[in-house]
Amino acid sequence: MGDGIIIVGGGHGGSQVAASLREAGYDGPLALVSAEREVPYQRPPLSKAFLKDPVHDLLPLRPASFYEKHAVDLRLGAEAVAIDRVGRRLTLKDGTTLPFDRLALATGSRPRLPPIERIGLDGVLGLREAEDARRLRTALHAATDVVVVGGGFIGLEIAATARLLGKTVTVLEAADRLMGRVVAPDISRYFLDRHRAWGSDIRLGTPVGGILGDTGRATAVTTAAGERIPADLVVVGIGVLPNVELGIAAGLAAENGLLVDDFMTTSAPEIVAIGDCVAFHQVARGRRIRLESVQNAVDQAKTAAHTLLGRGAPYREVPWFWSDQGDLKLQMVGLPFGATRNVVRGDPADGAFSVFHYAEERLVAVDSVNRAGDHMVGRRLLAAGLSPAPEGVSDPLVDLKSLLPKPARA
Ligand code: FAD
Repeated sequence: MGDGIIIVGGGHGGSQVAASLREAGYDGPLALVSAEREVPYQRPPLSKAFLKDPVHDLLPLRPASFYEKHAVDLRLGAEAVAIDRVGRRLTLKDGTTLPFDRLALATGSRPRLPPIERIGLDGVLGLREAEDARRLRTALHAATDVVVVGGGFIGLEIAATARLLGKTVTVLEAADRLMGRVVAPDISRYFLDRHRAWGSDIRLGTPVGGILGDTGRATAVTTAAGERIPADLVVVGIGVLPNVELGIAAGLAAENGLLVDDFMTTSAPEIVAIGDCVAFHQVARGRRIRLESVQNAVDQAKTAAHTLLGRGAPYREVPWFWSDQGDLKLQMVGLPFGATRNVVRGDPADGAFSVFHYAEERLVAVDSVNRAGDHMVGRRLLAAGLSPAPEGVSDPLVDLKSLLPKPARA
């Protein structure tokens, strides 16, 4: 490997590819090229602790010294704009070209914007990167009336924080339930009740119509039905688009994400791709999916690093995810779609319960609210492909851990 490996994207996935390559003993040239100016940092706190607390700083994924110590040529503020597959060179926005043997694309995703007028007014913000979070934090602390467009994870995390800060909060969700793309209906209902109890005005089935402004600043949001809601801060959180353009321009196959095989190899054998920007084949669901989570990016990075070194094993991880909203920690493992039966453990009235989702007899997902122990057992059950009897799961006297496989005797 004369020219070595270049990783494009310094987020959760990109940083992990670099670490896993060095851990696995790769000692050739290695560059990590990131459009952001910050040393790779943890993204989830941006909509949680970072937003609430003005002195909360970015949390680096690894200390800056890590990249130096492990001879990773970390190039910050460096956007890759073209891949020359024939000449094996990557071009950066400033015109620099870097040679490579193999490439890893970890370009993540960016917020989707609703097709409405005046989205560019001051006081209308999205959230993806550190810069967005700094801007949003300042605006949120100064705001009085906050309208959140989108009742997904990020919108609801921001709404909960805004209520804690005493703001008037309205959430507009076009669908008929919250977090509908990912969680089961009973979890959506529970969170709806809790957000309403915290004082947010949550409107389901209410698409945004437009934004009104005065002298360049947002002053209100209108619903599609024409209602006007005052707002001095509008936060848009209606999902993301995968950053696939660089790969597509280089001829890589894509369809709601760069297409990769079980080893994270794209349609070009010298290029792997991971994380938010890829659509991969999930064996458990028998179809291609694209996931947006830290677990997905980090675990795919480990698979991709081994593929780059020619020692790949197929990607088979069970997906898991979390979201912190107010005093609720929601942890999900598996995917609940196709479930035919739900079994509840614990009591929602106590603010701590789990929903075990079964497709016929097979356990397919576990959603836990303030029950981290259930989540951890759920991860082990799903990873082992085990489906405990629903009667045991719902019985508070049964220790969940007793449903796990017994360790083999030495
Ligand atoms: P990213 O971490 O987004 O990194 C991609 C990087 O590539 C970015 O730095 C981008 O600037 C860079 N880039 C893009 N194009 C180029 C280019 N052409 N050249 C150079 N660099 C480029 N997940 C959870 O599991 N739990 C949570 O609680 C959670 N909370 C979240 C809160 C927020 C506010 C956000 C935005 C996301 C959250 N997520 C959460 C999702 C999670 O952060 C992402 O799924 C994860 O970061 C994906 O990792 P990635 O490496 O694919 O992409």
